[in-house]
Amino acid sequence: MTRTDFDVLIGGGGMVGAALATLLAVRSNGALRIALVEPRPALMPLPQETLDVRVSAISRAGQRLLTEVGAWPLLAARSPSPYEQMIVWDAQDAVGGPDTLIFDAAEIGEPDLGHIIENRAIAAALIERALALGITLLRTPVTGLQLDRDRATVSLGDRQLSVSLVVAADGVDSPMRHLAELGGEPIPYPQTAIVTHLRPEHPHGAAARQRFLPGGPLALLPLADGRVSLVWSLPPTQAQALAALTDEAFASAVTAASDGVLGQLEVASPRSSFPLRRFNADHYATTRMVLVGDAAHVVHPLAGQGVNQGFLDVLALTDEINRARAGGADVGDPGPLGRYARSRRADNALFGAALDSIYRVYTDERDWVRRGRRTLLGTAQRLGPIKQHLVSRALLG
Ligand SMILES: Cc1cc2nc3c(=O)[nH]c(=O)nc-3n(C[C@H](O)[C@H](O)[C@H](O)COP(=O)(O)OP(=O)(O)OC[C@H]3O[C@@H](n4cnc5c(N)ncnc54)[C@H](O)[C@@H]3O)c2cc1C
Repeated sequence: MTRTDFDVLIGGGGMVGAALATLLAVRSNGALRIALVEPRPALMPLPQETLDVRVSAISRAGQRLLTEVGAWPLLAARSPSPYEQMIVWDAQDAVGGPDTLIFDAAEIGEPDLGHIIENRAIAAALIERALALGITLLRTPVTGLQLDRDRATVSLGDRQLSVSLVVAADGVDSPMRHLAELGGEPIPYPQTAIVTHLRPEHPHGAAARQRFLPGGPLALLPLADGRVSLVWSLPPTQAQALAALTDEAFASAVTAASDGVLGQLEVASPRSSFPLRRFNADHYATTRMVLVGDAAHVVHPLAGQGVNQGFLDVLALTDEINRARAGGADVGDPGPLGRYARSRRADNALFGAALDSIYRVYTDERDWVRRGRRTLLGTAQRLGPIKQHLVSRALLG
């Protein structure tokens, strides 16, 4: 086996790349030499710092992963907010009516369905753990790649490192995916997501709420301090018009669009917006390199599953690498990398297609589609086993 500078080099230390680095270190008992390359490593916000506007719903599977690598306790200072219910309804119906779909943690004997946590706190907790686990953190971008059968060479400016395996975890526009010519371009949705935190008149009751409006879904996620995090996906022209409103007018627009489910809302943080895209790379693996997280796949945020799917990549890749090591194989061996790529690409394709179908059904204003979808949520609510399957999927995924 060729001697290299590192066994595994991960380009991108966001939530997914940093999770992979720490899980590999923990499950190999420190036997792997790991480099994490991230030009802008996240810093843990100070306890008195206000909550950042970018938060994610982290499933219980994600929580288990963060716990295994020792990051979960570090997040306590940033108050992860448990959500016990998920309430979903169509704009044609009233919330709480027979066609409202309610996922309830109690129904499946769990304390909650997941937690709402700041993205930057998750990444920072993982970076802190990575350093404690002896992972080498290089604060610079990956600028070049050469992938050969016996080793990969990674350029960081004018410095070059030889490694057995390169992992691209550098986000949806992934420079590394382009360098490796792994193919596929993200497809824009005709939607922009507006995110901000709002103070509701009525308590959120630890429930995540989503109302399907003709322009796109509006979600209100519960925060530990009583506020809610808004994720409102809508056509870019409408998003621009809303961006131009004063805080008061914007809050009134959200109150109306959420059908007053939490009473009058008040803007309680700056507003940001994100163009939405979907993507599944043509290939997840090539010679001595694989993709994980948003570098490999992106879905509509309507189910709050993007990073959770990335964590599933992390678990699957770690299993393959460990099996290869246990069998005496090189960590860049094409067999395990190919198995990882096939299974995760298929799973992400299926999941992405399912979310895309939901997106299409709920933004299609043709009469027959509108009529048909009215019954969808209510039918799912009444079909207990299907609903329980969906809840389990939300918990596991
Ligand atoms: C509005 C919205 C709401 C969402 N809500 C949820 C939710 O509730 N739950 C959920 O699971 N998901 C959610 N998502 C999806 C989630 O935010 C993403 O899936 C997640 O951030 C992807 O993490 P990542 O680590 O793969 O990529 P990123 O977070 O994009 O990290 C990539 C990292 O790579 C680094 N990088 C870039 N170029 C280089 C280079 N050349 N060399 C080295 N490093 C480089 C960057 O600095 C960055 O730190 C949401 C997305 C949106 C848009």
